[in-house]
Amino acid sequence: MTYNNKYDVVVIGAGPAGYVAAIRCSQLGLKTACIDNWQDKNGKHRPGGTCLNAGCIPSKALLDSSQRFYQVNNELAEHGIKVNKASLNIAQMMARKDNIVHQLSSGISSLLQANNIDLHHGSGQLQENNQIEVMPVDAEAKRYIIEGKNIILATGSQAMNIPAAPIDNHKIVDSTGALSFKEVPKRLAIIGAGVIGLELGSVWNRLGTKVILLEAREDFLPIADRLLASEALRHFISQGLDIRLGARVTSSSIGKKQITVSYQDKQEQKRIVVDRVLVAVGRIPQTKKLFAANVNLLLDEGGGIDVDKYCRTNLPNVYAIGDIVRGPMLAHKGSEEGMSVAETIAGNKNHLNMNLIPAVIYTLPEIAWVGKTEQALLKEDIPFNTGIFPFAANGRAKTMSADTGQVKILSHAETDKILGVHIIGPFASEVLQTAVIAMEFDGSAEDLARSVFAHPSLSEAVHEAALAVDDRAIHVINRV
Ligand code: FAD
Ligand code: AMP
Repeated sequence: MTYNNKYDVVVIGAGPAGYVAAIRCSQLGLKTACIDNWQDKNGKHRPGGTCLNAGCIPSKALLDSSQRFYQVNNELAEHGIKVNKASLNIAQMMARKDNIVHQLSSGISSLLQANNIDLHHGSGQLQENNQIEVMPVDAEAKRYIIEGKNIILATGSQAMNIPAAPIDNHKIVDSTGALSFKEVPKRLAIIGAGVIGLELGSVWNRLGTKVILLEAREDFLPIADRLLASEALRHFISQGLDIRLGARVTSSSIGKKQITVSYQDKQEQKRIVVDRVLVAVGRIPQTKKLFAANVNLLLDEGGGIDVDKYCRTNLPNVYAIGDIVRGPMLAHKGSEEGMSVAETIAGNKNHLNMNLIPAVIYTLPEIAWVGKTEQALLKEDIPFNTGIFPFAANGRAKTMSADTGQVKILSHAETDKILGVHIIGPFASEVLQTAVIAMEFDGSAEDLARSVFAHPSLSEAVHEAALAVDDRAIHVINRV
């Protein structure tokens, strides 16, 4: 393929940050190229980044399959549906997941093509004077240079490694490995009880694995509101997840068949023996080989690229977005940054409210929130009112046998402006969006209380929690 080597915009990375930025740039009339080096096991280019290939999408596919398997074996009898014990075809489950990934990735390729974006399959390296060296994935092909008046860096992040459990991609794996086990491990140790550890722990637990989560911190899910974290912990334990807090993994040794993992808790050094280990201790920005040694790109304390609120780096016309910069490592945050940078480059006004990035943990029940937690408001000495409504009193949740959890709304004590919404319960990810929009419009709890919600719906729990802020929820007994 021959390429024009001069562009208005060159994007490095075709994850949810990069490909969205590229599409928006092209929509705005900018001649755009996107360089991406992801390839599947057959060497085929699969745009979509971590999110599509080894993150959001495959994990949700397996969460769905594993939940169906669990339901058939454990929850259908209540509905009067009798099923003889279901068996598992793990190869088919993985094939379904891979097929979803392939469909979506092909969709992104088509979108890039339809938007006349030149897609370069290779690794890009930033040089001086807005030039980028492309090293094609095809080892036979020669390196070449392209130029962008503007450059957007969107190379994402990588799983963090710890010396206590070096990844061998067989017995000790990162999240990518745990999304592709060929058989159900009997015992799986997961190092780190964060979002990824809990989601993948749920998948394998539902499929029959004995899952032990070793978490160095004493507190569970410190990023979430305490009410949600404590309720979530109770549910996970009752589902059979063995969550050991204050357990710092210190070493591991791979035997012929099993792995011994040593950890230190408050009392002593302990050991467990398992068949597989998943290291889920966080992710780090991917800056390796991203810029030449003579390029003075400024990094931040976390090893990511230092940017201002418009995602501008210290170099003129060079931007950075997504996991490679500050803020939560979430796909939608990167995509919104991508669109916002495209508008900036085109000279348009843009707006991205970094305070209203929703966060979701796709366990059962789901956990979702936006805005400030109660502990943050207390720390910042902001006066607030609280409204809580349980799904146990929500008709739709009852009909779905999914009546665990609650909605919690925090609003300013003087202005009633919504400051945070925290949900644990059925489809919390979807239900939360009502609140995100209300908050984006600077809404108050009273605005939600005066909105009409369809009945029966899960979202009615948001309505009732908003009424509860003023002690006037209908389907629970109020405090006054
Ligand atoms: P990436 O998606 O990592 O994409 C970067 C791309 O750049 C990749 O294709 C990479 O190969 C390429 N690249 C890197 N270096 C170069 C180079 N030098 N030249 C060319 N190309 C390069 N987030 C959510 O919001 N919801 C979820 O449910 C969710 N689930 C997750 C589950 C798991 C198991 C994991 C691991 C992550 C999950 N995430 C989720 C996080 C989400 O995947 C990331 O936030 C998101 O992918 C970041 O997007 P990005 O575009 O910044 O980077
Ligand atoms: P997250 O950042 O949400 O992916 O969560 C990663 C979790 O891994 C954090 O809660 C860390 O405390 C935890 N963690 C990091 N190192 C270790 C370790 N050596 N042993 C156990 N847990 C760890």
